Amino acid sequence: MEEECPQIVIIGGNQIKQNYFNNIHIYLYLGGPVGLLTAIQIKILVPQLNLVIYEKHVEYQRKHVLRLNKVTTFFGFPSHPLLTNLIDNLPSVVRTSVLESQLLELAKKLRIPIKYENIINLDKFINAHMIIGADGSHSTVRQLVFNNKMKVQDILKYVIEIKYEVYGHGEKLDFIKYQYRTQKQFKYVIQEHIGSEKDNRTPITIHLLVDQHTYEQMKLATFKQPYYLHTHQHLIPNDLLDTITIWLNVKKEYADEKRVEHSERITSVALMIYQSAEVVHYQQDKQQYNTCLVGDAAFGVPFFRSLNNGIICSRKLASCIQLYYGNEPAQTEGGNFLNSLKFEWTKLVNQAHCLLNSNEPLKAYSQFVHLMATKEIMIAQNKANFLFAADMMNKINGSVPWQLNKWSSEDVDHLKETIYSNNQSSITTDNQMDSNTWEDEDYDLVQEFDIIESDLSNNFQQD
Ligand SMILES: Cc1cc2nc3c(=O)[nH]c(=O)nc-3n(C[C@H](O)[C@H](O)[C@H](O)COP(=O)(O)OP(=O)(O)OC[C@H]3O[C@@H](n4cnc5c(N)ncnc54)[C@H](O)[C@@H]3O)c2cc1C
Repeated sequence: MEEECPQIVIIGGNQIKQNYFNNIHIYLYLGGPVGLLTAIQIKILVPQLNLVIYEKHVEYQRKHVLRLNKVTTFFGFPSHPLLTNLIDNLPSVVRTSVLESQLLELAKKLRIPIKYENIINLDKFINAHMIIGADGSHSTVRQLVFNNKMKVQDILKYVIEIKYEVYGHGEKLDFIKYQYRTQKQFKYVIQEHIGSEKDNRTPITIHLLVDQHTYEQMKLATFKQPYYLHTHQHLIPNDLLDTITIWLNVKKEYADEKRVEHSERITSVALMIYQSAEVVHYQQDKQQYNTCLVGDAAFGVPFFRSLNNGIICSRKLASCIQLYYGNEPAQTEGGNFLNSLKFEWTKLVNQAHCLLNSNEPLKAYSQFVHLMATKEIMIAQNKANFLFAADMMNKINGSVPWQLNKWSSEDVDHLKETIYSNNQSSITTDNQMDSNTWEDEDYDLVQEFDIIESDLSNNFQQD
C-alpha cells in the first residue's frame, strides 16, 4: 500500500487544520469486535482521518456466546443513528461471531477500508501517525512494539472441562440427597451447567477446579484436540478419571441421565490474568507512529468480563483520539436525545481527564486502561480466592470423621465402575453425534469462566 508521508505529526494537539487530515493515517489490526468498534467510533468522531483496518481472517474465528452488559458497556457511545440502532438491537447474550459480523457490516457502511492480511511486522506502516493493536490476546503489535512486557501475568485457576450431551431434558442432582455427598468424594470442586434442550438433546458442561499437577498431566487435552472419554482414558490421571466416572454414574442413576455415547469431550484450561506493562507507546521525537493497545491485546481477565472491558476501553480510546487530533465537534447526526446527552457527559469527563494528564489524551487513555485493568484483576483474584475457599471447605467436609450424609464405601466402589467397559449397555448409541454443532451453545457458564485456551499459557511461558 502506498502512503504519502504525513506533513505534520501532532502530539496532544488540539488545533488541527482540516486539510492536514488527508495525510493522517491510522492503522488498526483487528477484525475482532473491539477493533471494529474502535474504528467505527473514530470514523464517527473524526471522519476526516484515514483509517485502515487489517484483519488476517476473512471469517472471524470465535463463535462462543458472550454476555454483554448493555447499560454500562455502551454508556456514552457516539450517538450515530446506525451505531445506536445496532446497539439497541443487540441482545444481551450474543455469539461473538454474530456481534463481529454486525460490526463489520457497519464498518463497511461507514466506508472504513478493510484489508485481509496477516501482519507479521510493522515496516510498511512507517508513515502512519498511529497504529492501534486490537489483535487479541496473542497480539503481534504488543509483541513488536511493547516487547510483550507484562505488568501482570498469572494463572488464577486450572480447570478441566467435560462437555457431553444427554437425550431429552438435562436434570440437576438433588443437592442434599446426592450432589453434596458426591462432591465430598472428590479432591476437586465441581460445577455443572445444564444447557437448553434442542432437538431432543441437552448439552451439559462440568468444570473441575484441579491442581497444577493434574493440569500439567492433562495439558495436551486442548480445545483444538480434546480428549474423549472412550479413547483417551489411559491418559487421564486416576484421581481425575475416578471423579469423572463417579459423577457421570451418579448423574445416570440419580438424575436419570441418558448420555449420548462417545460425546464426553475433555479439555484442560488455564484461567489467566494478564496486563501489558504499557498500552501506549508515545513517540516524543515525532519520528514514528504512536501505538495503542485495546481489547484483549491490552489486558485480559477471566470470569466473563473481557469483551465488556474491551468495549469500554474502545470508547475511551476513540474519544482520546478525537481530542488528540482536534477538538472538532463530533459528527453525531441523528441518534436519540438521551444517547446524545450521555455522549456529551462522557466527552466532558474525558476532556477533564485529559486536562489532568497535561492535556495529553493518549496518556489519559493509558491511565484509564491501567486503572481499569487493576480493578478487574482485583475482582478476578477475589473470585479465585472465593473458589479456593470453596475448595478447602469441600476437602474439610470430605475428611471429617463424623459425616452423616455420605456414600458408603460399597456405593463408591459401584460408582467407580468404568463407564465404557462396564456400563455400555445403558448408554444410548448415536452415530450422528457431532460435537461441533453444540459447542458453546447456550453456554452461559461463561459467566463463571472466561476460558482462555491452554496454549495461551504456553505462549506466555515461551515469551
Ligand atoms: C469461551 C469464552 C467465553 C467468553 N465469554 C465472555 C463473556 O461472556 N463476556 C465477555 O465480556 N467476554 C467473554 N469472553 C472474552 C471475549 O471473547 C474476548 O474478550 C473478545 O473476543 C476480545 O475481543 P478483541 O477484539 O479484543 O480480540 P479478538 O476477538 O481476539 O480479535 C482479534 C482480531 O485480530 C485479528 N488478528 C490477530 N492477529 C492479527 C495479525 N497479526 N494480523 C491481522 N489480524 C490479526 C484476529 O484474527 C481477530 O479477528 C469469552 C472468551 C471465551 C474464549
